[in-house]
Amino acid sequence: MIKITTLKAFTDNYIWLVATNEGLLVVDPGDSQPVEDFLNKSNEVLSDILITHHHFDHTGGVEKLNSQSLLNVYGPTGSIFTGINRELKEGDTINVIGIDFSIIEVPGHTLDHIAYYSENEGEPILFCGDTLFAGGCGRVFEGTYEQMHNSLNKLKILPENTKVYCGHEYTLSNLRFALEVDAENIFLKDRYDECINLRNNDQATIPSLLEEELKTNPFLRCDNRIIQENIKQKFNLNKMPIEKETFKATREWKDNA
Ligand SMILES: [Zn+2]
Repeated sequence: MIKITTLKAFTDNYIWLVATNEGLLVVDPGDSQPVEDFLNKSNEVLSDILITHHHFDHTGGVEKLNSQSLLNVYGPTGSIFTGINRELKEGDTINVIGIDFSIIEVPGHTLDHIAYYSENEGEPILFCGDTLFAGGCGRVFEGTYEQMHNSLNKLKILPENTKVYCGHEYTLSNLRFALEVDAENIFLKDRYDECINLRNNDQATIPSLLEEELKTNPFLRCDNRIIQENIKQKFNLNKMPIEKETFKATREWKDNA
């Protein structure tokens, strides 16, 4: 039995705190303070940290949380973030606080980006940092568009009931953009309304279900003919874009939106 708590950091980051009867881990502690506050209040002890990629808003709290250097800090092999002491690569499996995770390399947003997936006894969970967002995806900073597209396609084939825990509350802005790219999508408007409600009540829109991402996230729907047609019109292309061209054009459109 696992319990996942949402900790807010900075303006729109989420730090995920995962507890089992074997221990406590946090994912991407960009700031130590929300984690320390939680630990002080609950009288619990942190044992492990999972890092998805090197960006400061995902790693900035590690040094303080691990000031006695007793924690396992898992993260990608070859990362420029130096606080990692358990390096991971594609296909690795780890057991942390009794949870089995498999490691999926998802370069694109950064070159060192990894995701943590667990089948979690039929209730699968994914910690994917800034790769797949609710209704969107991360910016392509270090990798190529093709790498990012391939990375998202790796996440796309996970079970549809996977709960997706990403690193930011960007959902409303993502869905507003999605409504431009995929205006005919009947699921999108409903999802947008639901998320507006959640945000009006100061609730997180995360986690989302992979199933709803597959239906509404344009970056997972680049093989969709209607989206491809919309991209063709938007950019005045003289032929229908293929899937990877659709991804690149959609990502650039969002960057400039
Ligand atoms: Zn990032």
